Amino acid sequence: MNYLSTRGDTAPRNFCDILLEGLAPDGGLYLPDHYPQVDAATLARWRDMYATQGYAALAFEILSLYIDDIPAADLKALCEKTYTPAVFGTREIVPLTKLHDASTSSARTDFYLEALSNGPTLAFKDMAMQLLGNLFEYELARRGEQLNILGATSGDTGSAAEYAMRGKHGIRVFMLSPHGRMSQFQQAQMFSLQDENIHNIAIEGVFDDCQDIVKAVSNDLAFKRQYKIGTVNSINWARLLAQVVYYFAGYFQATRDNGEKVDFTVPSGNFGNVCAGHVARMMGLPIGQLVVATNENDVLDEFFRTGVYRVRGSADTHETSSPSMDISKASNFERFVFDLLGRDGARTRLLFHDALASSGRFDLSADPAFGQTRERYGFVSGKSTHADRLATIRDVFEQHGVMIDTHTADGVKVARAHLRPGVPMVVLETALPIKFAATIREALGRDPDRPPRFDGIEKLPRRVRVMPADAQAVKAFVAQQCA
Ligand SMILES: *Cc1c(COP(=O)(O)O)cnc(C)c1O
Repeated sequence: MNYLSTRGDTAPRNFCDILLEGLAPDGGLYLPDHYPQVDAATLARWRDMYATQGYAALAFEILSLYIDDIPAADLKALCEKTYTPAVFGTREIVPLTKLHDASTSSARTDFYLEALSNGPTLAFKDMAMQLLGNLFEYELARRGEQLNILGATSGDTGSAAEYAMRGKHGIRVFMLSPHGRMSQFQQAQMFSLQDENIHNIAIEGVFDDCQDIVKAVSNDLAFKRQYKIGTVNSINWARLLAQVVYYFAGYFQATRDNGEKVDFTVPSGNFGNVCAGHVARMMGLPIGQLVVATNENDVLDEFFRTGVYRVRGSADTHETSSPSMDISKASNFERFVFDLLGRDGARTRLLFHDALASSGRFDLSADPAFGQTRERYGFVSGKSTHADRLATIRDVFEQHGVMIDTHTADGVKVARAHLRPGVPMVVLETALPIKFAATIREALGRDPDRPPRFDGIEKLPRRVRVMPADAQAVKAFVAQQCA
């Protein structure tokens, strides 16, 4: 499989060439040069395989279509090492929970939650990051290289990266987070890690300050090269690819027969998760609608309703109770637009490079392509507010006895507006409620359930260094750790 850039650079690259990279050199995002098509016989075989051999076997089948520069036996071993019941808690890895919904008129629609949050950090990012950790370790060993991962997090990404990379050979992680601003549980999760290759840096500032420091360090090309600085952000193709697998696994669990369709609703921020759904659909998985759910930060909902994509300034980015969806622009969205425009790299570049730089927006409302977002690609959208989240958390708990987190609540709220008779709806559960306890208390007047393995985690010794919002200080620390 060859990979190309959404901005027109078609120099052929293999999977492992782009594995450790972020953006393409022309500023675009990497995509495979085609989507392998899954025919009826293959889909039938995969359904059986998931049921009898499990998730890792299914993952290997799907990944093999996109990765031809890792020997099959090695790739299989990496999948088996990653997707084990010991790490993800169940044999299915991503089990469905059926909600029998009495509150809507669509009693004929099966409504499911797909659990993606039973990995080490209780958010769906583990699904991809755990694989990435194993792929990175494998590829770095093969090349005899080292990597220092520098990242900024407001919570879920940083902890998922640290738990994926802890103890891995050839890898160090330097993770910046805004001092005192993550939830107590998230701080405890990250700062209690004692692994020598994991470095928590709490920056005296807000999340944007952390991100600015990462950019400043990455823009110092000499430093970046000398210290082999890399990232694990959500534009990484390997992360997206890993996420394609659970759309197949969700589909097989929600249906009996491959003639049926399923709709998915995805709580969305940077468009990484739902973009994996788009890829699964392009491969031929019978997905009807892909419902994009946003919170008050509705950049994506606005686009799918109006055809206008308008990035927000930091002043119009809301801090919400579903913080992992608080984005000002959706960094993976360019991938979908590239497909929507018939893979016209020059036009994608005009929109994402020129138009966004000059006016912060582009408008496809009058373009025939925009009409295809729903008809041809299945995309619809909706948004949710703090009041919606509270009401939805309460309602799902009272009616079904199931406690959902704030992000999943945004999904359930929006999904309910898009139910179709006879078409199962699967909402991706992106985190567990314990990560966002304050809002659960506000909604339900009680504490969220805590998986027993996290008992007392707030009392564990912490390994974190507090630093001013200063790129020089961070660079000096990185240099000292690598000496
Ligand atoms: C990251 C995250 C999201 C948003 O996912 P994207 O891939 O950025 O769209 C939603 N919910 C939770 C809990 C997350 O951690």
